[in-house]
Amino acid sequence: MGRATVIERDFLAETPRHRKGLPQGRHTHLLWSGGVRILETLLPGVTDKLLAAGARKISMYSDMITLTSHGWQHRFPGDQFAVMCSRPLLDLVVRNEILATGRIDLKQGHEAIALTGDARRVTGVRVRTLDSGERSAVEADVVVDATGRGSRLSSWMAELGAPPVGQDLVDVGIQYATRIFRAPPGATTGFPAVNLLADHRDRQPGCNGALYPIEDGRWIVTLSGTRGAKVPAREEDFLRFAEELRSPLVADLIRTAEPLTPLYSTHTGTDRRLYPERMRHWPEGLLLFGDSLAAFNPIYGHGLTSAARAAATLDSQLQQGGLDEWSSRRAQQAICEGVDDPWIMAASRDICYVDCRNFATDVRLTSLAPALQRFAEAIAAKAIRAAGVAEMVANVASLTTPQSELGTSEFLSLLQRDRMLPELTEPPLRADELALANLDPSAPRPLV
Ligand SMILES: Cc1cc2nc3c(=O)[nH]c(=O)nc-3n(C[C@H](O)[C@H](O)[C@H](O)COP(=O)(O)OP(=O)(O)OC[C@H]3O[C@@H](n4cnc5c(N)ncnc54)[C@H](O)[C@@H]3O)c2cc1C
Repeated sequence: MGRATVIERDFLAETPRHRKGLPQGRHTHLLWSGGVRILETLLPGVTDKLLAAGARKISMYSDMITLTSHGWQHRFPGDQFAVMCSRPLLDLVVRNEILATGRIDLKQGHEAIALTGDARRVTGVRVRTLDSGERSAVEADVVVDATGRGSRLSSWMAELGAPPVGQDLVDVGIQYATRIFRAPPGATTGFPAVNLLADHRDRQPGCNGALYPIEDGRWIVTLSGTRGAKVPAREEDFLRFAEELRSPLVADLIRTAEPLTPLYSTHTGTDRRLYPERMRHWPEGLLLFGDSLAAFNPIYGHGLTSAARAAATLDSQLQQGGLDEWSSRRAQQAICEGVDDPWIMAASRDICYVDCRNFATDVRLTSLAPALQRFAEAIAAKAIRAAGVAEMVANVASLTTPQSELGTSEFLSLLQRDRMLPELTEPPLRADELALANLDPSAPRPLV
């Protein structure tokens, strides 16, 4: 059975704590059911451990109030869900399960500074110990670059004499501002998650608000906006931004809630995808995973599931062939296929926003984009009111089912015939939920 050495620059705490190497960990993180099921296959029992630690399992429609670009989503039952908790808790529980396998040598406080080998074959990593500054080399049959958005892979490859890896970039200029609040008693279990999304068609900067239940009776609230939106940088502007969203629901929920943290901001959210699969020669023994391979606008919540998919792909490649006959190129190809759906879902929506900078060569984001967008709008308009279409959209959005299923004749026929419920003019909250969150049932909450 193989062993892995994890080289991590940070020192990792044994309690769920924020750390420098994970700035995004301050912001809302959900893990869609596609990713949860993969994690569960790799680490059986991990979901129960997360739930026991306070994470919530939120059904995609019945436990989530969503304002989509086309209006309020009906609360249909369904199989897809998200696990919601703070990112530090998610990482801690998953890390503990991985370390418990006894197959990992964790080198904390160690920074990867270069690859060893040459352009034909990578043989390991050069490492610097942070406290002593000592340098050493770690040999490996396979090196996985999982250093996230800040990956220095391009300069490491250049040092080996390898040509640059091609990339696509779509930059919608997303900014995030997050605070954690104490939820009213019982509201993290009895009140749904809330997701208020911009309407990308109205040629204004897109403004969004999400309120998710997390462990310890708290709500994590993230406000975000595309280029040109005045995303709050100061705590005193947080509520005002929430009040100016298309629906005041998040503002109504946080108006009297006690803030537990300061405001944290980030500007990280460009859609960026490398194409190692297009290289004529790819170094044996090198793989790209997670955000170092493809990173997406976080609003779609696909980064973690994509990273989990890559891990599962490597796992199955290793189990099938073992390292001797195993080709990095084939494995990297399979990993790259796994990022195509989240990439196109994020980038094709982002290019609709005003002032989005589209540097992509992918034809689905250039010449084919208008036709694909018309199709996507037809599906989105139906999914909020028709249960069958909604179910298929949930399967795709949770990265459970390939997006190509939306092009099958079965789905096209469903799109035609699925029965539509009446349009919702108010957020679909029950009286008991309104009472739990101290919301006035008689107050109208029209869309603006
Ligand atoms: C604001 C925001 C919200 C998000 N919300 C969601 C969400 O709801 N759902 C979702 O699925 N995804 C979300 N994401 C995306 C998600 O955070 C990433 O996709 C995911 O963390 C990628 O995992 P990774 O392992 O590739 O990189 P990371 O999680 O970024 O981890 C990189 C690790 O490498 C270490 N490191 C970096 N350089 C070195 C080095 N040279 N040597 C040693 N160690 C190094 C870092 O310390 C860190 O531990 C969000 C992202 C942002 C920015």
